[in-house]
Parts: sequence; structure tokens; C-alpha cells
Amino acid sequence: MRGRFALLAALGAAALSCLLSAASAQPDEYGAGLEKRSPGVWPDRVYHWYYNGANHPAWLGDDEARAWVQEAARKWEVCGVKMQYEGETDRAPMRMDGRNVVGWRDVLPRGARGITVGPAARGVLVERDIAFSSGREEFHRYPRLLKKVLVHEFGHAIGLTHSSACNDVMTLAADCPRADPATLPLFPTGHDLARCKALYP
Ligand SMILES: [Zn+2]
Repeated sequence: MRGRFALLAALGAAALSCLLSAASAQPDEYGAGLEKRSPGVWPDRVYHWYYNGANHPAWLGDDEARAWVQEAARKWEVCGVKMQYEGETDRAPMRMDGRNVVGWRDVLPRGARGITVGPAARGVLVERDIAFSSGREEFHRYPRLLKKVLVHEFGHAIGLTHSSACNDVMTLAADCPRADPATLPLFPTGHDLARCKALYP
């Protein structure tokens, strides 16, 4: 287990973390220009998720933060997966408790913008929690960057790994030249969708 995953490994879960920038780039099992095999899918084609709004970015209101997250989730429904919002929860994300919780943390391990974590068994996803980093000044400056990260992590939550194409939603930032925040994709690209539909034919 590589160092950047050590903390998450301590949680007993596989992790997909999305690095800050090329400056912190290092090859990992989900990136480095290779599209790794998916850990699994939701066999009923439904991702049931709960939202915990605690620690959301200070510059976003409660309702707006929730709406942004809900909107990001829905963007994968074109893949044929139901992104079923089940309501709010007080449970914290990244705690393996059998419930998919999506929420915020001020700071994430290794400078990640977002982390999706959870076990899978024999090609079936068991749990996928998402934590977004809320304290980042870059998200305040470039809200589009946060919106892209929201969509990206939901992609992991339904089983996608990182894409090798730098203009995709599922790209690993550390593998690509720094993108202009104004041109970041806010929807799954054709390539993202093709990869998703390969998982959910
Ligand atoms: Zn990622």
C-alpha cells in the first residue's frame, strides 16, 4: 500500500483520491495514464446516497452546497445509473458503516480535492463514501473547479477509475497539465460516458 493511501487503508477501505496538482504527482494504481480496471459496479444500477452538509465551504450556503452536490450526482444518470438521494444524515463520510455518505472535510489526506472510499467484493460495490475538501481557496476562486470535482467523485462512487484523457471529468489532475479552470468539463464527456456504459451495459 503506498503512503498516500496509508490513512485510508487504516480505515480498511480502498480509496480513490484525487491529487492537488502535477507538483504532487506520483503514479498510483488508478492513474498514471492507464485506465485501471473498475473495482466494481452497483448491480441494481442504483447508487443510494445520503448527504451530510457539515463543514461545507464557508462561501457556499447550506442550500446551495446541497444543490451543487445533488446536481453533480444527477449528471451520471445519462449512463443509466439511478443516483438516488436518500436525504440528510449526521453520519460522517469515510466511515464504513454500510451507508453511502457524501459530505465535506476541511482538509483531506495528501492534499486531495476529493476522496471516494469504500470496499468492493468480486466486482460488486459494497459502500462508496465521498468526502470533498471544503477549505480550499482555489474552489472559492474557481467554483467551476469544485463543480468538476463533485462530478468526478460521483463517477468513482459508481465504479469508474481515472481516465487517461486529460479533458475528461474522470481525469486524474496529477497526470495532466494544469487545466484552465474556465474550460473544465462539468458533464461526463463522450469518453467518460463510454467508459461508464462499459460498466453498465
Ligand atoms: Zn479521482
